[in-house]
Amino acid sequence: MATLINDPHQPREHRHPEKRNRPDTPVLRKPDWIRVKAPMGKGYAETRAIVKSKKLVTVCEEAGCPNIGECWTKKHATMMIMGEVCTRACSFCNVATGKPPAGLDADEPRRVGEAVAEMGLEHVVITSVDRDDLEDGGAMHFVHTINAIRTASPGTTIEILTPDFLRKTDWEYKVIDARPDVFNHNLETVPRLYLSIRPGARYFHSLRLLEKVKDRDPSQFTKSGLMVGLGETKEEVMQVMDDMRSAGIDFLTIGQYLQPTRKHAAVDRYVEPSEFAHYEEIARSKGFLMVSSSPLTRSSYHAGEDFARLRKAREAKLAEAKR
Ligand code: SF4
Repeated sequence: MATLINDPHQPREHRHPEKRNRPDTPVLRKPDWIRVKAPMGKGYAETRAIVKSKKLVTVCEEAGCPNIGECWTKKHATMMIMGEVCTRACSFCNVATGKPPAGLDADEPRRVGEAVAEMGLEHVVITSVDRDDLEDGGAMHFVHTINAIRTASPGTTIEILTPDFLRKTDWEYKVIDARPDVFNHNLETVPRLYLSIRPGARYFHSLRLLEKVKDRDPSQFTKSGLMVGLGETKEEVMQVMDDMRSAGIDFLTIGQYLQPTRKHAAVDRYVEPSEFAHYEEIARSKGFLMVSSSPLTRSSYHAGEDFARLRKAREAKLAEAKR
């Protein structure tokens, strides 16, 4: 049988055809603070069984997330909708890239809703691959998925982590109008590094997407994330924080970039835990409602607990303003 270029069970480097002929990048030894526990336990097995029985894809597996042992043991899985093949070719990401099969699985939103109900999630994070091949960039699939979760599990709060909908004029408004509790889109890195790290994206377009969410529905929480350790400077990170605050972003996540394979961008350095704490302090002083900054922070890491804190922080701020 011929080898499927984008078969997730193939060795990682075969999942990225556009990276195949790139020279290998150096691999920096991981420091002690990056080590994580191996996946195991009853909760982990149960999460895995639900994901498989509903034929769902998770970013936890596809991106090779280091937190999968901890999250799945607590039954927190982040579903990745619209398939497992991404039409972009970011140099940091381990999700398979290439030409996805045409169209979408119209039954997927229903199965996601059922999985959320079976897992008994109070808060769920839904993300997707980029689907530049679709006229709406997958906007309506997000809408259907949000609606299906509301039907199957009305008490669950919903966080979406979306693509940028670049060149998909106005389709993003459909997603905003579906009123997720949290609208997340990651800026990922500082603008200077976009060409090498996120070549298919545009920094100010991504920023504007989040600003549009706030303009249209100020009650929706907005969230964005940065990876550090890619060669950015502290001043550049601080500038991004300022840009995010200008766009009204409520919640900032900062985590260490980890290199999925030798064909991906190299880790420039491992940022020390004390520097993450320092970034958190700076970000809080700039007015974010919530900041999560640590080596293993990922957009969806501890998202449920953080959402509860986010709500409380807003309530406290509103109460303060009334005094
Ligand atoms: S941090 Fe997010 S992507 Fe990673 S395992 Fe946890 S839920 Fe999945």
